[in-house]
Amino acid sequence: MRCRSCRRLTLSTICMECRNIYLRPKPKIRVLSSGLEVLSFFSYDEIEPFLLTKHYPSGWFIYRILAQESFRAVYSLNGETVASIPIDDTSHGGYSHTAILAKELKKYGFKPIFNVMIARNKISYSGRSLSYRLENPRGFVYNGPVGIEAVLVDDIVTTGLTLMEAQQVLEKNRVKVGQAIVIADVDR
Ligand SMILES: [Zn+2]
Repeated sequence: MRCRSCRRLTLSTICMECRNIYLRPKPKIRVLSSGLEVLSFFSYDEIEPFLLTKHYPSGWFIYRILAQESFRAVYSLNGETVASIPIDDTSHGGYSHTAILAKELKKYGFKPIFNVMIARNKISYSGRSLSYRLENPRGFVYNGPVGIEAVLVDDIVTTGLTLMEAQQVLEKNRVKVGQAIVIADVDR
């Protein structure tokens, strides 16, 4: 096949040269106004073309590579049990990009709980203003286990509103949210 980035022949969706050039994670923590820590690995602009593949079938391969390259820069849990809850992991075009991320985190000891944090409002926030986002909450419904500890998993953090809304819903269900883990931060 050909590398999605440079078009060279390669055995992987993104060749090793491009991974070395474009996929060098720089782990960073942003603290949201709710106190939630968000761990990210890239700034959005660095890897935007890769992130936009989530709307296409190739995104399945690309997101797996993004998850591999990001999370290997992160810690492993030492025997602790922490659940990971992907945000709105309903499948679009045959897969869910947040579920791919949660599956990869399993290697580091995070136990994924799928399909428990689903948005009733399916509207896209992409390119929308903060006031629009505030007026149109996601309307998350949580139907997972209560009284556990968990991390939230999403692909990007922009204003942080989605993560904080999910955090609030979880806390109402006595889920202690330790951290949010995302691939990219839109830190403009
Ligand atoms: Zn390449």
